[in-house]
Amino acid sequence: MHKIITAGLVFLILTNLFSITAWAEDVTKINDLIENAKEMDGQRVTVFGEAIGEPLNRGEYTWININDGTNALGIWISKNEAEHVIHYGNYKYKGDMVKITGVFHRACIKHGGEADLHGNSLEIVKSGHPVKEQIIPVKIISSIILTVLAFIIVVIYQKRLRTKYQAPKNL
Ligand SMILES: [Zn+2]
Repeated sequence: MHKIITAGLVFLILTNLFSITAWAEDVTKINDLIENAKEMDGQRVTVFGEAIGEPLNRGEYTWININDGTNALGIWISKNEAEHVIHYGNYKYKGDMVKITGVFHRACIKHGGEADLHGNSLEIVKSGHPVKEQIIPVKIISSIILTVLAFIIVVIYQKRLRTKYQAPKNL
């Protein structure tokens, strides 16, 4: 059983490493786009990151936000392509991991002079999922304190009861 689990873990790690190195070759980090905006302006690039926030529909097009861990960027993409994204990351969900190819604009004239990427194609690399609810340490600590307090109260109460009933004997 342990061997199967170990083999499974090794397989997962290897496949993850493989996919990371595979992406690394043709993917541009969002922060590199922002930092080298002048050189990258008008270039066709591919970004890979998590869809976050909420999509904003604008007629036939949709704005989606992508965060790749280095930075975030607004993607202007056709509504049809954007509809492939099911999960958007927030405190409850891990968003879909998407790979988007398009043209980077340092200060897009069409969209108020902001930096953006006009996406042509979108590929879902990994589906998002609900984030497991984390128990806040404060909650754990306070529940421990409450349990200890309750225990102390019970002990004191029992002692009092005992002394109350034993009292007549001593007299
Ligand atoms: Zn634009």
